[in-house]
Amino acid sequence: MSSNDTVIDTTTNGSGSGSGGSRSVTVIGLGPMGQAMAAALLDRGYDVTLWNRTASRADALVARGARLAPSVREALAANELVLLSLTDYAAMYDLLGPAEGALVGRVLVNLSSDTPEEARRAARWASDRGAVQLTGGITVPPSGIGKPESSTFYSGPRDAFDRHRRALEVVTGTTDYRGEDPGLAALLYQIGMTMFWTSMLSYWQATALARANGLTASDILGHAVDTANSLPGFFTFYADRIDAGNHDGDVDRLAMGTASVEHVLHTHADAGVDTALPAAVAGLFRRGMDAGGATESFSGLVELMKKAD
Ligand code: NDP
Repeated sequence: MSSNDTVIDTTTNGSGSGSGGSRSVTVIGLGPMGQAMAAALLDRGYDVTLWNRTASRADALVARGARLAPSVREALAANELVLLSLTDYAAMYDLLGPAEGALVGRVLVNLSSDTPEEARRAARWASDRGAVQLTGGITVPPSGIGKPESSTFYSGPRDAFDRHRRALEVVTGTTDYRGEDPGLAALLYQIGMTMFWTSMLSYWQATALARANGLTASDILGHAVDTANSLPGFFTFYADRIDAGNHDGDVDRLAMGTASVEHVLHTHADAGVDTALPAAVAGLFRRGMDAGGATESFSGLVELMKKAD
């Protein structure tokens, strides 16, 4: 049975149909994210049932009117709409596996981070147990939960998404539905995180270099912000050219870029700062040179990455 074939049990307490959607939601996982989600639902007058491995994390929410279920099974039984906010998908199997008989008719909205393949595997696992999985990719920290200006990627069965859209908007702001493939929201999330982690690491690297030269993080803040703000212009310039396979060296050439990243590497080495990150960058540029790309744009590295093992 595919996830699209799964029949939803709309006789369950709090299950919704039509434009209203559910006003009763189960939240499983109460790290900073799950707590913020449950709080946003309580703020909007929803009935909230909770479960968490460490029960004490529910205390403040229970004091506000949420109900702590005595077991995962009862948390699942309480509502059709079940939000999962866990460290990864492995935690979902740990938690829901022993209670899988209670999954029939549930819509599991998995807002945990993991790979697109894990999201697809979990959707099959849910479907095999009579449930439906929607995948969510959250792009904001807990402070952004419940804010209309925040936006979250969703993918999975469209009918389940439409039925619960209103509650999902309460939790994660704007809902950006991208399609039926349950891996898609996870992919978009991981694309964002690819940029986030490497960008933040590059900021830590630049700050370490500044500090090794007697400058503080505050001293370089404006320069760091200006540099980061210049990047969208580069993304926009290169996007169409990359899609067209155009890596012409009319604006920049890889040979110039390679010389530049070598200067960066040596500046860090001279200052006694860790060189792992600049050395990795220089290594990629050198591979592009070895592949014959010296006179092409450094955007050609995207083709090199595609071919990497
Ligand atoms: P945490 O890791 O702090 O909390 C995770 C939750 O998962 C806790 O409730 C924890 O239970 C539970 N958990 C983990 N492993 C298991 C297990 N094996 N069995 C049972 N329960 C388990 O994460 P956050 O709340 O910060 O984030 C939740 C998800 O949201 C993550 O996937 C994260 O990547 C994603 N995310 C987080 C953002 C953030 O800024 N925090 C931003 C965007 C996405 P217990 O309380 O008992 O430890």
